Amino acid sequence: MSFSYKEIYNEDGKKVLEVNILPEKYCNFDCIFCPIGRSYNKVDIQRPFDEIDNSLKELENMIENHKVELVYINSKGEALINSKISTIIELIKSKGVSVRLLSNGYLLGRDEYIQIANKCDEVIGEIKAIKEEDFQKIQRPIEGYTLKEYISNMTSFNKQYKGKFILEVTIIKGYNDTEESIDKIKSIISELSPDNIIVERMNDEKFKKKLGISDKRFKEISKVLQNT
Ligand code: SF4
Repeated sequence: MSFSYKEIYNEDGKKVLEVNILPEKYCNFDCIFCPIGRSYNKVDIQRPFDEIDNSLKELENMIENHKVELVYINSKGEALINSKISTIIELIKSKGVSVRLLSNGYLLGRDEYIQIANKCDEVIGEIKAIKEEDFQKIQRPIEGYTLKEYISNMTSFNKQYKGKFILEVTIIKGYNDTEESIDKIKSIISELSPDNIIVERMNDEKFKKKLGISDKRFKEISKVLQNT
């Protein structure tokens, strides 16, 4: 496989390189609104992918040639399942470059993945459904997963994590946009105690009509949650 990249951009004066380290979608969830499509490979154990050496060389060249300051691992699904993720993170760190890892957060409760995420300067975890039945219905995780465990996995991870833990909360019409839901999200945020909160909504054209909330409601909710 080879990694894929987004155009390099600036964030707070830093040059950011976004990289996808999966050849196709591999995730432990199969969210109905996933922008990448269905999860035909629902998986939560690591697996190897071909031609990793070439991919690592290419990544190293990208970092050097573009004087990248932060690499954001944002993959087609759950990046932690690439068995070479530790090597990838170590390579980036050896260049004196910071690493941000996006994970849906469920696997942050398992030892092997905690050790990997701990190597990163920033970790993003996510919250979407906030009721157990909704979690099963709209995020369709691997059998046996529960929302309760999902939240406790991220909570225990962040308790021992020294880096910056960022929580991305996605507001979905009909699932977590009422006042009662916002209160519940606030209590989840208090439990997780992230360093930063990103509030999102359904932006994908395919799902916006059914699951998107209005600009006004989005502003209101963002304000409340950012002040939690
Ligand atoms: S967790 Fe993210 S990548 Fe995985 S199925 Fe859901 S939306 Fe897609």
